[in-house]
Amino acid sequence: MSAPNIETIVSLAKRRGFVFPSSEIYGGLGSAWDYGPLGVELCNNVKRAWWRWMVYERDDMEGLDSSIILNRSVWKYSGHEDTFSDPLVDCRECNARLRADKLDIPQAAEGGDITTLIRDKAVKCPNCGSTNLTEPRPFNLMFRTQLGAASAEDDPAALAYLRPETAQGIFINFHLVQQTMRRKVPFGIAQIGKSFRNEVTPGNFIFRTREFEQMEMEYFVRPGEDETAHQEWIDNCYNWYASLGLSRDNLRLYEQPKEELAHYAKRTVDIHYRFFPERTDEEKHWDELMGIANRTDFDLRAHSKNPLDAEGKRVNPDSTEDLSYFDEARKERYYPYVIEPAAGVNRSVLAFLMDAYSERTTEKGEMRVVLKLHPELAPVKVAILPLAKNKPEIVGMAKAIKRSMQPVVRAVYDDTGGIGKLYARQDEIGTPFCVTVDHQSLEDEAVTVRDRDTWEQERVKVSDLQQHLQTRLLSR
Ligand code: ATP
Repeated sequence: MSAPNIETIVSLAKRRGFVFPSSEIYGGLGSAWDYGPLGVELCNNVKRAWWRWMVYERDDMEGLDSSIILNRSVWKYSGHEDTFSDPLVDCRECNARLRADKLDIPQAAEGGDITTLIRDKAVKCPNCGSTNLTEPRPFNLMFRTQLGAASAEDDPAALAYLRPETAQGIFINFHLVQQTMRRKVPFGIAQIGKSFRNEVTPGNFIFRTREFEQMEMEYFVRPGEDETAHQEWIDNCYNWYASLGLSRDNLRLYEQPKEELAHYAKRTVDIHYRFFPERTDEEKHWDELMGIANRTDFDLRAHSKNPLDAEGKRVNPDSTEDLSYFDEARKERYYPYVIEPAAGVNRSVLAFLMDAYSERTTEKGEMRVVLKLHPELAPVKVAILPLAKNKPEIVGMAKAIKRSMQPVVRAVYDDTGGIGKLYARQDEIGTPFCVTVDHQSLEDEAVTVRDRDTWEQERVKVSDLQQHLQTRLLSR
């Protein structure tokens, strides 16, 4: 099974220290969330798993960590200053701010132009039901800030943006990475980092927030080889999520129709996850988990000083570099095409939590939550529990085992309740194995290893414990 809705995860996440509403002591801040002790581990494990798979397990990949604040020209020539906007609609009755492209269109009017539909009062405010809506106008999603101490608030020379995607940092470093690492096309550059979008309608917990983290990779290929590479990356990404435990029943591929494509994209396929299983309309269960775009040579060309327009003028008079690539073997120069798998850390965390959620009834008829996270993602891999916390020899042995494990796997020691409660807590946070030290352990130097998913227990010699657990963690 998986979680019946996001709300179930919101409450589990707060109760167990994964995710807290941000700034709660001051009444919160809309759609901002803080990751607690277990949440930070889960996020780090997702990022580590992605980096290992994307960078370390391939021969054609480099990593990068570029700045969040870049020269404003980057956003001018990437097209973000002009086009990175959502169509904003206001409700004149309740003042709700809405995204025109997310409004519910009555079935009879489907396919109609949204501005005309609003004018004809054919669309309702989802908040209050009024049809008194403003016509859509573009709202740029980039957060603005000023650089330097002396800048006046509206000084255009000081204007800067917080990056809305990590990708541009990769494009502007394309040559430096390629040359310093002596790379030949095809190769990729991967980056993980924060991005910021002043979303009109953030919400659904960590699904859509204004500050979030992205895992992006730009794969540079020779024009003409882009379509095959694109399909390979679509399949790779889908399989990566499945390999970390997401059920294929809750994943689907979505081919963006022409009218949805971004200005730079030749083809984009999104991986959808069933984030909203409670909705009656099956089509509305799904939303984007990640996107895999064929960005063509748009970005490298746009940031280059060389291309000329029809009148022979430089398209980009501000750039000092040409980002084309000389293919030595073929003796040809070209702007590589770019395939971009772009995923959100936070949305991935939400999908992993939802998919791992399960409920199980004990013999006594009590309901238990078991979070069946893939061991690579589980915040804690093994919990060491003493059966009697008032027995110093048992406590000492349990703590010694914990300390011997901690350089190798994330281990915790817990004696804050009876053994039943301790098991329940570890099940609920997704710990694959519990190790219990009991009176017998003092005699036979053996402990009980309990499996989260089967609740089966087995006796293991302390001297074999590390090897035993590592083998089982890896075999999942
Ligand atoms: P959406 O259509 O949901 O706004 P997008 O198509 O604009 O997303 P991309 O620009 O393709 O998103 O970004 C790549 C990934 O980054 C998304 O698939 C998602 O996982 C993540 N992402 C984008 N915007 C947000 C956000 N506001 N909050 C959390 N994650 C986000």
